[in-house]
Amino acid sequence: MEKSYQKLIEGNKLYAQTKVFKDPDYFKKLSKGQQPTYLWIGCSDSRVPANEITSTQSGEIFVHRNVANLVVHTDTNLLSVLEYAVKYLGVKHIVVCGHYGCGGISAAMTNNYHGYVDNWLRNIKDVYHKNSLELDAITDGVQRADRLTELNVIEQVRNLAKTTIVQQAWAERQLHLHGWVYGFHNGLVKDLSVIHDGSEDIDPIYRFDFPNK
Ligand SMILES: [Zn+2]
Repeated sequence: MEKSYQKLIEGNKLYAQTKVFKDPDYFKKLSKGQQPTYLWIGCSDSRVPANEITSTQSGEIFVHRNVANLVVHTDTNLLSVLEYAVKYLGVKHIVVCGHYGCGGISAAMTNNYHGYVDNWLRNIKDVYHKNSLELDAITDGVQRADRLTELNVIEQVRNLAKTTIVQQAWAERQLHLHGWVYGFHNGLVKDLSVIHDGSEDIDPIYRFDFPNK
């Protein structure tokens, strides 16, 4: 039986040795705790590792990943990560990072049955439906998928802004939301300039009035 997983164990040893070689106290410092500045909400795709593509180190980015980087209001996993990052770690920036060539986006644009994941991808179909006038006008399939990828990120940033957790933070301090799309073709991130910092108008129906402390 091929023991390809051994590659990971060996790679881990090399990683630990290299870190200690550069800084003998590296792991001692890491074990004291974390104070990341960023929360990253990205796709599970193996080609979009948050630390690697941003040249950051362990301890700098708190990470949540799921298929097609969705912010779903009933996702207790994401909401738990979000609350912990915002309330207890005090992150200053939240980045929703999608990527071109996303399998989740492509799958959501078909009527094929893929299994349970189709229930998850329904959220992307809703984004398509909301923007169908613009998307249906794009004749090239790849360009249409690329635009849906961008619109999906924008929608997920909006979803973040609708959460009690983000709005409660805005009532007390600064917190910036960003929407990015990463490209495999050049390794670069495109900033969609959908920054939310709490000063933008949010539809009143999504606003919460927090009781005074
Ligand atoms: Zn993806």
